[in-house]
Amino acid sequence: LYNPNTGIYTSPRPPVPLPQSPTTSIVDFLFRNLSVYSDRPALIDPNSHQIFTFSQLKRKISDFAQTLHYTYSISKGDVVLIFSPNSILFPVAFLAVTSLGAIATTANPLYTVKELAHQISDSKPKLIITVDQLFSKVNGFNLPLIDLGNFSDLVAKSSNHASLSPSVYQSDVAAILYSSGTTGLSKGVVLTHRSIIATALMVTSDQEFYKEGRSVFLCVVPLFHIMGLITFTYAQLQRGNATVVMARFELEKSVDAIQRYKVTHLYTAPPVVVALVKQPAVVRRYDVSSLQEIGTGAAPLSKDTMDECSKIFPHAKILQGYGMTETGGIISIENTRAGFLNSGSSGVLCPGMESKIIHIETLKPLPPKQLGEIWVHGPNLMKEYFHNKEATEQTIDKQGWLHTGDLGYFDEQGRIYVVDRLKELIKYKGYQVAPAELEGLLVSHPEIMDAAVVPYIDDEGEIPMAYVVIKPGSSLNGEEIQSFIAKQVASFKRIRKVAFIDVIPKAASGKILRRELRQKIPSKL
Ligand code: AMP
Repeated sequence: LYNPNTGIYTSPRPPVPLPQSPTTSIVDFLFRNLSVYSDRPALIDPNSHQIFTFSQLKRKISDFAQTLHYTYSISKGDVVLIFSPNSILFPVAFLAVTSLGAIATTANPLYTVKELAHQISDSKPKLIITVDQLFSKVNGFNLPLIDLGNFSDLVAKSSNHASLSPSVYQSDVAAILYSSGTTGLSKGVVLTHRSIIATALMVTSDQEFYKEGRSVFLCVVPLFHIMGLITFTYAQLQRGNATVVMARFELEKSVDAIQRYKVTHLYTAPPVVVALVKQPAVVRRYDVSSLQEIGTGAAPLSKDTMDECSKIFPHAKILQGYGMTETGGIISIENTRAGFLNSGSSGVLCPGMESKIIHIETLKPLPPKQLGEIWVHGPNLMKEYFHNKEATEQTIDKQGWLHTGDLGYFDEQGRIYVVDRLKELIKYKGYQVAPAELEGLLVSHPEIMDAAVVPYIDDEGEIPMAYVVIKPGSSLNGEEIQSFIAKQVASFKRIRKVAFIDVIPKAASGKILRRELRQKIPSKL
């Protein structure tokens, strides 16, 4: 696992073989075993109880691809924005776009018009796939719009055309998903078909002991995020497993769906596990005995919460994974077969993944039990940040190591512990909040001279907190600052605490000394 000569940690499992043919797209790969489970459920909508079987899913993807191509002239290399809440048509739209060799980009439906404008001007989509309740946010961009609510009418119009078979290579770009990475504003993470296929194989490689095609996954995390879209839904569909897609997490509806569809796996983010743990009475009203596994990722989950969760779901194993958008969503996952349960670690490296723990000052690789920056390498890594050579070079070094900006260590059994973040990123309930964006908005206020945004750790995790320097004589107060920001950003990016300071600590280079501010959190706010 750990090679002291090279300083490299490897996965305890052999790498997963990727498909041989260079022209295997994610859609080809998804249906490679279709004959085995063509009539089994693939996607389930717990609200309407509508089910797409695998063969229906394939048909819907190809019908929608025809509409995109013949009605909207979408072809290879075009970017299409999917701006929609979770639904069973979301994966259909994503896969239809990529089947043409076109590129899907996704955005959080909570985004304001201004936030969306940043992504639209960066990724330059030719078309927006959305739903009517979001029309008011996208109307002003002068781009053609597709309403997913009108799916049947839309595809009926293009049903007479010749079928399409564009050449799509594993090395072609399939998706551009946005992440702020280690610093600055959000950037387009460019993922190829190959990196998505690799993620899907890596994340499911420990599942051999489940009967393929018999597992039912519940997806309550957003599909615009890598975790919902690729790490969970796509990865499981390609194994022939079913996914129940919830529009959003609602406790009672989720446990009802677990009972009704005999859900075997709930993969989610820590706030959902915390919500389950806090309301055991609701969970106990339902039969959740089908649940074999609860997996979380996107932010740390404490061992205590894992233990609590085990009490409420005695039949389920609770495990944690670690990943980031830039790694196709996955780096490590708890290996349930090795008996490592509720360890509080993020598991062992996925097959094909290599890692180094680098001392933050000496840059020397570190042995087990020593804390440093986590660097990773594997077939799932992003190709680059879209049109951003500088950020790409800062993140992936010349030897191909991706510097995660996370601080962690391995133990002697090869389990990884992610303990803190060196990078600026704040994660509020699993959602990314880029301090640079909020700092830009804060200093645009005429009475704010300087500002820094850092995570404040409370009982439920991180919350965005601002340190502000106001102009002499200004009477601006914390509430006014919070509402100034709240008007301009999606709700999860709101500043939830403000402290006033005389000067923002900075290095000679002008870089904000964030760690110094994090330690400074005052008792009175
Ligand atoms: P994202 O690209 O939105 O998935 O965010 C990736 C970041 O989330 C990582 O670089 C970590 O900082 C954090 N993260 C993801 N999974 C975990 C985990 N299991 N424990 C701690 N932090 C995590």
